[in-house]
Amino acid sequence: MFSRVGAIFVVKDAGIGAIIKMMKMLVTAGPTREFLDPVRFLSNRSTGKMGYAVAKAGVRCGCDVHLISGPVALTPPDDVRLTKVVSASDMCAAVLEALAECDVLIMCAAVADWRPRVVADRKLKKESMSATLELERTEDILLAVKDRRRDNQFVVGFAAETDAVVNHASTKRSAKGLDMIVANDISRKDAGFEGDTNVVTLITEDDVQALPLMSKEDVAHVIVDRCIKMHRVTRC
Ligand code: C5P
Repeated sequence: MFSRVGAIFVVKDAGIGAIIKMMKMLVTAGPTREFLDPVRFLSNRSTGKMGYAVAKAGVRCGCDVHLISGPVALTPPDDVRLTKVVSASDMCAAVLEALAECDVLIMCAAVADWRPRVVADRKLKKESMSATLELERTEDILLAVKDRRRDNQFVVGFAAETDAVVNHASTKRSAKGLDMIVANDISRKDAGFEGDTNVVTLITEDDVQALPLMSKEDVAHVIVDRCIKMHRVTRC
């Protein structure tokens, strides 16, 4: 019934001629910010470079790309639909709203795991602040996706690890019900946050592929290419 060329679906036997549909790719990028008052927030070192490179690679491969981005200082790639979010809760809502439409979800975002339990609507005075901040867990977006995804969607997560990188990432892949996880060894100076290069291992149910040091743009191309191929083989 379906065949596909690159990121294009060709629906055969569709009556008069063929129907062509672009692969829809949903990508998240950047950090989230978890405010404790209008001035102060908890966040992390993510710049969004990896996620933006993945979105750009998706466009180059012919996908219809929707990028959901936390606060970053990057210009979005041409031809992507951009949704800007701030907190993990905003990102979760945006992902779940867009999920039904996508064929491939690539969650590159460094989502904060904790947020302040109480958010003040006015700036807190330092004299009246407690030295202890009470936190609560944010939504785990990929776990929420696990309960709602269709079988014919291909879902990819990232894992930033400093030790036992492949083991920890593999465990995370199973726990979050992912088709693939991109393990990132952030203990290396030339990989992970802020820089323009990365060293990753792509882990699926039956394969572990360690990539050499590459630019984030090249890593993004390998990831996107792999997603398109695996979605084609396993989902149609
Ligand atoms: O568990 P950990 O945060 O290391 O997992 C990383 C992966 O999970 C990334 O793909 C990230 O986008 C996603 N994540 C999520 N919701 C969170 C935290 C991380 O979906 N609250």
